[in-house]
Amino acid sequence: MDTKGSSGNVVKKATLTPKAIIHQKFGTSACYKVEEVQESQPNGCPGLAIPMKSPSLFRCTLHLPDCTVRSGTFKRKKDAEQSAAEKALEKLGINLAEKEPTVDEAQADLIARISHFFSVEFLLSPHPLSGHLRSALRREDGFKGQVPVSVIAVGDARVNNLSRCINPKVESNPYLAIPLIMDAATKLSGLVATSEGRFSLQRKGLYPQEVMRKMLNEAGLQGNIEINTIHIPFSLEKPIHPLTLNVSASGYYLDVIAQKLGVEDAARVLTSRAIGKASSEIRLYFSAPLSSLLSWATDMVDQDAMDSEGLFNARASYLSGQLVVGDAILASVGYTWRSTELCYEHLSAQAYYRMFISKTPSGLYKLSREATLAAELPLAFTARTNWRGTYPRDLLYMFCSQHRLSEPVFVTSAYHLESFSEVPKKMKMTQFTKEETGYPNGGGSAASGGKSSVSEDTTSFRCEIKIFSKSQDLILEYHPKDLYKKQGDAIQSASLKVLLWLDRYLREPDLLLQKINSSADDFRNPFCHQNFTNEFSLCNFIHKITKRSENKLHEGVDFNFVGQLDFEEGHEAFSLILEGQSSGVSASSGSLACIGYSISLVMEGENMKELVESSEEFEFEMGTGAVIPILEACVMQMSVGQYARFNTQLPADELVLAAVKKPENILSLACTKVEYSVILLRVTEPMEDRMEQALFSPPLSKQRMDFAGQLIRESCVKTLVDFGCGSGTFLESLFDYQTTLERIVGVDISQKSLSRAAKILHSKLDVNSKFLMPSPGLESAVLYNGSITDFDSRLYGSDIGTCLEVIEHMEEDQACLFGDVVLSSYCLKTLIVSTPNYEYNVILRRMQSQEDDPDEKTQLPAYKFRNQDHKFEWTRGQFNNWASDLAARHNYSVEFSGVGGSGDESEPGFASQIAVFRRKELVNGDSCAKPVESLNYKLIWEWNSNNSS
Ligand code: SAH
Ligand code: MG
Repeated sequence: MDTKGSSGNVVKKATLTPKAIIHQKFGTSACYKVEEVQESQPNGCPGLAIPMKSPSLFRCTLHLPDCTVRSGTFKRKKDAEQSAAEKALEKLGINLAEKEPTVDEAQADLIARISHFFSVEFLLSPHPLSGHLRSALRREDGFKGQVPVSVIAVGDARVNNLSRCINPKVESNPYLAIPLIMDAATKLSGLVATSEGRFSLQRKGLYPQEVMRKMLNEAGLQGNIEINTIHIPFSLEKPIHPLTLNVSASGYYLDVIAQKLGVEDAARVLTSRAIGKASSEIRLYFSAPLSSLLSWATDMVDQDAMDSEGLFNARASYLSGQLVVGDAILASVGYTWRSTELCYEHLSAQAYYRMFISKTPSGLYKLSREATLAAELPLAFTARTNWRGTYPRDLLYMFCSQHRLSEPVFVTSAYHLESFSEVPKKMKMTQFTKEETGYPNGGGSAASGGKSSVSEDTTSFRCEIKIFSKSQDLILEYHPKDLYKKQGDAIQSASLKVLLWLDRYLREPDLLLQKINSSADDFRNPFCHQNFTNEFSLCNFIHKITKRSENKLHEGVDFNFVGQLDFEEGHEAFSLILEGQSSGVSASSGSLACIGYSISLVMEGENMKELVESSEEFEFEMGTGAVIPILEACVMQMSVGQYARFNTQLPADELVLAAVKKPENILSLACTKVEYSVILLRVTEPMEDRMEQALFSPPLSKQRMDFAGQLIRESCVKTLVDFGCGSGTFLESLFDYQTTLERIVGVDISQKSLSRAAKILHSKLDVNSKFLMPSPGLESAVLYNGSITDFDSRLYGSDIGTCLEVIEHMEEDQACLFGDVVLSSYCLKTLIVSTPNYEYNVILRRMQSQEDDPDEKTQLPAYKFRNQDHKFEWTRGQFNNWASDLAARHNYSVEFSGVGGSGDESEPGFASQIAVFRRKELVNGDSCAKPVESLNYKLIWEWNSNNSS
């Protein structure tokens, strides 16, 4: 079922809207606020006091980190937003992509822009560069008024754009802008002075006296400041270390940096582009002969030459995505649009390591989960409900922005599948951007919008991804074969595949590229090899640094379990120490495990232990590699309530150091092992829930509750017992409509579920809302802990019993016992029992296989039942036997029904089968005699209307 070629010609250079450009530059730090403006037009009815409703207009305010703009008024919100974005671009000096100037025009514009910088007017304006100019006027005699060109090259978006127009290579090698600016300056010999051999500029004429006076006054405003920065030696042998800059109020911060770098002139300091988010002022400062940098263009990087020179700063180059030579200082300091004063933030070593690991997809994911050592980028996207942390698509956006690539392009195609036939018919193709899909924030995927009965909803989706460089060269193309039921899932899955691929590439660049050329992967050949390696040339150095022990922990290690407790990794034996009784509830592939964990560094032999990472509640999907393999293997062995402890080798230093607050302390520990302590808090079985939600609309559980709810309303009952109430979802649903209920009771064997149920009911029964409640007659609500196979006399005389999806969680004989106890002792008028219909599973599987990635599917264990905890699932016949037999023995009638699916004879029945037992009129009253008191349940929670306060 291959329908390739659906999107062969994607627009290479999409014209971006102002909003899209703002998004590219600022991401989520761009904040649009649209307000409605009611223009009170006298609308044709001058005499009337009633205001005519004039069409509302919208105005948009756009807040960016450094400036705020307001649009005019527009009829459509969209237009107001675009207008605000356009104004912001104008203000920031960013050219709209469509009007790219010619080289000559750009050269002229650059000259004009430079000349503008040295005007009196500019000196007083709020611009990052004017801060430098003012500060430079206070520099020491020989350098007075001189501004380093490197600062001009990175400090103005317009200079940046123009330089790129003149020489496109500036994009990959920003230092190339420096000679362009110097050239422009020499054409301004009347206004700007360039000093021989020095890359700094200066205004020729003096600024007016009153301006100068103002500058000098400003100098007295602030005292000395200390700025914490990070020193990154070029030699990998030397660790990074904290460095404090002391900047005096009257000084120029670049002079301080220059001094730290061992050069006397700030013009010798090169400044990198801002690293990270658009609003960031985090940059690298280093001193290097410009000539060596200018000869460099991305396609000419010669690792060995670079290494042999011995000055290449791999860590700094990797962080900034541009070449850095010699020792470097990483600092967050500079002048901004916001304020005329110097802005700065302290950088910790942890911040450095976090920036470092955020360059890889798995690092981004780890950070988003705040679990640097425990989490791993999952290998599969099974369902939105199971994913924790930032979604793959958003990670991909982050990755592209980190690496200065264009935003990824998603192309989804919809296919219409005719009732499970294998041949997809192409219906439409849509290409859209992030905003248009509205996913994941915008209310779900397109496919889930409609009704999805078994045969109706057969549309499937496929998503292709293309990644372009900033200069719009295609660098990566991904064409999956898989189809998804939901458009959103198709996008997320494809994004994840691309992320995984990129992650592996960054870890093992050479290996992967070889593989690509030989394999018939979904990453289509011809792979844009050259373009790709150009983009990532600076990353190639880094894997040498990070390799080390990391692979041991993260690359497909197989754990062989020796007995229950010991397992081996390679030749080394690890032991897993389990504590606590086995509760029997454990996690397996497909379930969500919730753990509490702590990870410490321990020094062997000594009693030294240092906590590096911990979490009280950390949930992840089992079987997808969402945590490091060794941890997943450990959790696999545990049952709920148990503790486990195990040791591993130290992972890559960078990961450890990104996790700890004070890396200084850790370094001194020189630790040898990492100790993990884990408690398995709970396990959620998502397979069944997921199916019920994804494949049925409304979800199957809702349909079950509606079915029972309807019966309760029709029969005007006063007392209800929910057998196996779980966390109280059904009891809670009773508050959605009016009933005649006076007493509701829930019984369950699980304390944990009951405490959740108590919380929910408690909030529903808040004293104040009593009179607003839909069931005004409600007098009491009770939760008992116990097994529903045990009799408790307090339930005697209840009108109706419900037991939804519970019996299949007990052994068959217990299910029979339950039926006997309930129907013989409580004198219920009605009992509703629901349970899965085994025969329907074929259909579920068929529906699911369209939903999930078929390749991944084979890796998941084949589920016999819908839920790991099910002891059985009955066919219609089996259920019929059970229920009919019970009914006959206890003088009840029974009627069969169900929810989900059509229930037609031709079909395998309903997805959930339901039996409704009704007590037959008694001939003589003795079969319903009041039992002797027997209190077998433990009261967990109780609410009474009269003493509820
Ligand atoms: N009725 C709920 C929960 C179904 S899950 C719903 O429809 O959402 C099954 C529930 O049965 C679990 O909460 C489990 O704790 C409970 N259960 C299983 N065996 C039980 C027993 N012997 N006695 C009481 N509850 C039991
Ligand atoms: Mg069940």
